[in-house]
Amino acid sequence: MRLHVLGTAAGGGVPQWNCACPGCTGARAVPSRRRLHACLAVELAPGRVYLVNATPDIGEQIERCPWLRPDGRRTPLAGVILTDAELDHTLGLARLREADELEIMATDAVRKAVGEGLRLDETLAPYVRLRWRDVEGAELLPVSGKRPRYARDFGDGQWVSALRIGGLVYAPAMGVWPTGFGDGADVVFADGTFWDDDEPRTAGFSSRTAIEMGHLPVTATRERLAALPARCLYTHLNNTNPLVDPGAPQHAELKGVEVASEGTVVEW
Ligand SMILES: [Zn+2]
Repeated sequence: MRLHVLGTAAGGGVPQWNCACPGCTGARAVPSRRRLHACLAVELAPGRVYLVNATPDIGEQIERCPWLRPDGRRTPLAGVILTDAELDHTLGLARLREADELEIMATDAVRKAVGEGLRLDETLAPYVRLRWRDVEGAELLPVSGKRPRYARDFGDGQWVSALRIGGLVYAPAMGVWPTGFGDGADVVFADGTFWDDDEPRTAGFSSRTAIEMGHLPVTATRERLAALPARCLYTHLNNTNPLVDPGAPQHAELKGVEVASEGTVVEW
């Protein structure tokens, strides 16, 4: 199997349209620092590719992936796997309405949020049928019970998951470090939303800490990741994370864990 990294940013992207923080300003000045919303293309079998999460950048992301080039009106895109129901991971479903049918794998909680909260099944029905199915050939492991704000009345459930497919573990958001996380994996993508727990407060956009927002910060996970035999990369970087600046001194404190970038291909 192989994967192609199609995006590495948290909600808003880098730069975020209404932000002039150092990370966003740097990305406007230096195009190579731009990051699209976090997304992977995973080829489970030759010519059978799944997107992991459907972001607002999905059209551009599909164009950037050579494995997703259509042939006539046939596409190698087999479906979408959702690791949570956050808007930055689900709004792209609407952009796939030109498909005849769209296969989506997700937990029951995520399916309910997209169907009854965003009403996408109903809204898209005249264009495309969303065919929901249980995850097969992969596992979704619970990593947080944090609901999207639009789904705050929906009750408890498996709201945020880490995806495991063979030797790949993909956890763009993780509120906890589950027992055995990353054991036996070849490649692990972990939550790199925030550098440290105070970042949302010091950056001035939230009164909550990173952990209160459902994200273990880099400073809480880098040593545990570095201890895994797997290749480990941070993804889902918020624009306030100093790691979006390739010259930031924090890169020297990563203990060998990498920062994912768009275009990276990993085979395992
Ligand atoms: Zn910013």
